[in-house]
Amino acid sequence: MSFSDLGLAEGIVRAVTEQGYNAPTPIQTQAIPAVLTGGDLLAGAQTGTGKTAGFTLPVLHRLASSGTPHKTRTSPRAIRALVLTPTRELAAQVEESVRAYGKYTNLSSAVIFGGVGINPQIKLLQQGVDILVATPGRLLDHMQQGTVNLDNIEILVLDEADRMLDMGFIRDIRKVLAALPPKRQNLLFSATFSDEIKALANGLLNNPATIEV
Ligand code: AMP
Repeated sequence: MSFSDLGLAEGIVRAVTEQGYNAPTPIQTQAIPAVLTGGDLLAGAQTGTGKTAGFTLPVLHRLASSGTPHKTRTSPRAIRALVLTPTRELAAQVEESVRAYGKYTNLSSAVIFGGVGINPQIKLLQQGVDILVATPGRLLDHMQQGTVNLDNIEILVLDEADRMLDMGFIRDIRKVLAALPPKRQNLLFSATFSDEIKALANGLLNNPATIEV
């Protein structure tokens, strides 16, 4: 099994090959085709399994093969994919992956998290971003200030959803979900499945594909 066998565009396969990845990991073999169908996904996966590429690669593929990326547009438009993560470290890592795997696409990305100044993030968002990676609290700050537009979100990813709940982000997550357009693809990644995660998944996901590694 290779990355091109999974149906990913040539530029994305080239970028992962340059990362030194020879073959997809088990979570990638299962998640990539599932996400490419456009349907919802519930994935049980620990850190270190390659889960980040498992959602990043097909999300890049889907966005690159439809719509007009920001870099080729004259006026910036709203964000098309939103990835929520529990910590700034994870947010930064995920966005780095988006950048690396998306280097041969025209898609742009940005990361926003708390504990740093908000103004540089506002400038970044104004430039136009296709894929936004964020921690829930700072994203809400931007929503409340009207400095982020979530009206065009096509894909939502909750990464390490169990950790986000452990850290008390459920109310923030619910506020973000309420602001998103209802017609979208939802991907939920979690290492564990408590009743609280199951409840979140039940409310969020439509007839999801389920994978566990
Ligand atoms: P993650 O579980 O997403 O945090 O990824 C764990 C590590 O595995 C990261 O350092 C990735 O760069 C690496 N990785 C992801 N996919 C592959 C792959 N298919 N082959 C080799 N390494 C990979």
